[in-house]
Amino acid sequence: MKKVKINLGWDKEKIHCELAQKLDFPSYYGKNLDALYDVLCDICEDTLIAVEGQSDYGTKLLAAVEDAAEENDRIKIEILQEDNMTINEAKEKLYALQAKLTAYNHATAVLYFDGATTAPKGTGANRAQTLAVLSGEIYKLSTGQETVQLLEYLEANREQLEEKENRMVYLMLKGIRQMQKIPFDKYVELQQLISEADDVWHRAKDESNFEMFCPYLEKMFSFYKQIAAWCAPDKDPYDYWLGEFEEGLSKAKCDRFFSTLRSRIVPLIAKIKEKQQVSDDSVNGYFSEEQQAQFAQYLMDVMRLDKNHCGIATTEHPFTTTLGTHSDVRITTKYHTDNLARSMYSVIHEGGHALYEMGVADEFAYTVLDGGVSMGIHESQSRFYENYIGRSRSFVEYIFPEMQKIFPQLEGYTAEDVYKAVNKAEPGLIRIFADELTYALHIMVRYELEKRVMAGEVEVKDLPEQWNKMYKEYLGVDVPNDKDGVLQDSHWSGGNIGYFPSYALGSAYGAQFLRKMKETVDVEKCIAEGNLAPINEWNREHIWQYGQLYAPSQILEKTLGESFDADVFCDYLEEKFSEIYNL
Ligand SMILES: [Zn+2]
Repeated sequence: MKKVKINLGWDKEKIHCELAQKLDFPSYYGKNLDALYDVLCDICEDTLIAVEGQSDYGTKLLAAVEDAAEENDRIKIEILQEDNMTINEAKEKLYALQAKLTAYNHATAVLYFDGATTAPKGTGANRAQTLAVLSGEIYKLSTGQETVQLLEYLEANREQLEEKENRMVYLMLKGIRQMQKIPFDKYVELQQLISEADDVWHRAKDESNFEMFCPYLEKMFSFYKQIAAWCAPDKDPYDYWLGEFEEGLSKAKCDRFFSTLRSRIVPLIAKIKEKQQVSDDSVNGYFSEEQQAQFAQYLMDVMRLDKNHCGIATTEHPFTTTLGTHSDVRITTKYHTDNLARSMYSVIHEGGHALYEMGVADEFAYTVLDGGVSMGIHESQSRFYENYIGRSRSFVEYIFPEMQKIFPQLEGYTAEDVYKAVNKAEPGLIRIFADELTYALHIMVRYELEKRVMAGEVEVKDLPEQWNKMYKEYLGVDVPNDKDGVLQDSHWSGGNIGYFPSYALGSAYGAQFLRKMKETVDVEKCIAEGNLAPINEWNREHIWQYGQLYAPSQILEKTLGESFDADVFCDYLEEKFSEIYNL
């Protein structure tokens, strides 16, 4: 291999002479950038060009070399760290790099948020184009030579870094090493597919038309199989994606977890079926969007969400997103005028996600540590507030007087009526409307189907039929159309294949967190008094503040002093529903 080392700070003549001499350029070489590009494109021997220093001309020259390297695989570029760069300078560069990435991600998130909230329907392609450019820039910035060398330099000097800096370097290098396995054009193509698929999914769902969405979903699944093959050729593709959403998760673990849930939840549901059913009349009727919007604001106050930093909007499918840093978090909900509980619990659920994001230590803002550590831990927080707090008797009793003020329709009903209504256990069609008990069954259907499609056992075009069959088998319900069936969730269009199990996992983590919290916090009393501060503080201290500093398993061990145990969740369900249904 031919090698040359140049300093971009040298004068123009010297750089060209050095290149010409070391790389045996032809004698007619013109010593300008066009000539340089031409001769480099013609090189047929492996060549390494190492550069250091900088100047205005040097930057242009480096760009010409990079262009040639894109054309000619034989050319490799190495950007050398200045020999005299101190560890402190490298750290400064690390923070500056993360601030820049945060800015790009901020812009991307605002575009997605706009697309989901107020953007007119026909503007998807326009946004997709911009998002593709932005994601290209993010890719280049995160995987570029200069970034890799900086991170590798820091990795090599890890004993001089603080714990948080070590984790930043680890997470960024892990991401880069993975991204480098995905060809750049494929990466941009995927971002574009996600954006388009999301747009098509919205329309397909509106029209209950799976055929319209099918080609996009086929592309999505095959893309995800391909990415898994690039990133982890020795791993089962679905195992790879499960692990991406929850470090360490696999089909084997999911199979065990779901079989525990199935063995304990299914008999419980069967026993409930034999008993007198509870009424949910109190939460059904007509509740205007204005009333529900007012109620949502009240719920955000009860949860102590800081409205200077957390906003709410309406979307087809509720979600939470962080724009830039944890000082700007948005949640969304959908108001169903025929039911009061649906939006109520989506606000509390998304509010739980928002509390987690907003509770990250301020020192992590503008770094990769800003944000929740995994989908499972995230769902443990959202479902903690939704179910363990929001669906508890003391919570409903506490908020009931305010509910009566906002909704005079509740005249004649008691807090106990509402408590029973929001805990009515009845298998239904829609995951996001499912009660706490039957929810896991909805997840099992999705898990089984994803697993089978990824394994090539089920074709994407057959998903509606398989979906309907499994809903009958698991939940005993008939699916009347694709809108209320296979098209109901946004996850697959958003490229979140492998995400669903983290919902059920989150519920189970949450049960363990609750049990631990009760050792030091009088949870019932706090809820009864409408004072969630000690509860929030416990979560902040044990979970939120760390952001991504620790892996999910470390958070569990640090906080609980024990590993994951699905039976704690099942015990909680048994106790709660036995009381409600007199089992
Ligand atoms: Zn969630």
